[in-house]
Amino acid sequence: MALSRVNASIGTAAVLGLADVVMDAAPTTAYLMLGGRCVMDCAFCAQARSSRASALKLSRVTWPEFDQAQTLALLAQAVERGDIRRCCLQVTVADGYFQRTLQVIRAVRETCPRYAGASPPRFPVDAAILPKDMAQVEELLAAGVDHIGFGLDAACERVFQRIKGGSWARSLALIEEAAQRFPDRGAVHLIVGLGETEREMAEMIQRMHDLGLIVGLFAFTPVRGTRMENVPPPSISTYRRMQVAQYLITNSLACVGDFTFSPASQLLSFNFPRLPEILADGVAFQTSGCPDCNRPFYNERPGGPMYNYPKPLTSQQVEAAIEDVKRET
Ligand code: SF4
Repeated sequence: MALSRVNASIGTAAVLGLADVVMDAAPTTAYLMLGGRCVMDCAFCAQARSSRASALKLSRVTWPEFDQAQTLALLAQAVERGDIRRCCLQVTVADGYFQRTLQVIRAVRETCPRYAGASPPRFPVDAAILPKDMAQVEELLAAGVDHIGFGLDAACERVFQRIKGGSWARSLALIEEAAQRFPDRGAVHLIVGLGETEREMAEMIQRMHDLGLIVGLFAFTPVRGTRMENVPPPSISTYRRMQVAQYLITNSLACVGDFTFSPASQLLSFNFPRLPEILADGVAFQTSGCPDCNRPFYNERPGGPMYNYPKPLTSQQVEAAIEDVKRET
């Protein structure tokens, strides 16, 4: 019965005891995928309408299907143990996706009502989804979603039109209205490496932060079978600069107007004298987004490069990441 099945990322499945895989870093958020093949056609996405990638893929990750009731019961145990601290539904635009999302949010809420690590002690549930309008935003929040993760993905209209299609103005207007009406209830996903400049990405991070949204940075990952399968991922130096920009901006330590860009819109300087001190703990290079959302190997091959570190960096990793920031390409 389709309604009683749910897909879990392979890392989530391992933490729940549903799969036996060796992991260098375990997810601290449980990622569940709902929907199936999407009616949208984002050029990078394994679930896009025209994609030939496996139906069990999203980015680099495999999402096997499990019984929903069993998965949620195991999720409750993992929450109790403190292994899982958040749940996020990754929702594609497929038949009945919206009602299905509401149903799973409610089911997670019922199965995992408490989480001692949060204040108030409520288990946080988010949904990375494309709401159609404000009515859907309201329904999601009423169903108990903590954050709606808006998949804007593109840093500017030019990239949005080429990679995603649809109305940039309408997407932005919905995000802006939701952020204004429901402060602290939104996150936005931005993907580095879709064809934007470093200036465009830094400016969009600032714009989203100014709206009060959490900014989750992703690195474009070429997936076989998608329209962008032959496009290279972003250089690690560009990604590191965007991580630093994200960190400074979202912690209100600096703003994009402080940064210097080259004529080609590459970020040349943060003009932030305390930068070495601020970067020394490596947190700027860890996965960004909602608390405890560490997305291990969502963008990374196990052999690297590590765009988003899913756990604290060693001092050698911090040194290398800071060197990456300084490299031109
Ligand atoms: S940042 Fe993480 S937890 Fe938050 S909406 Fe995005 S994927 Fe989900």
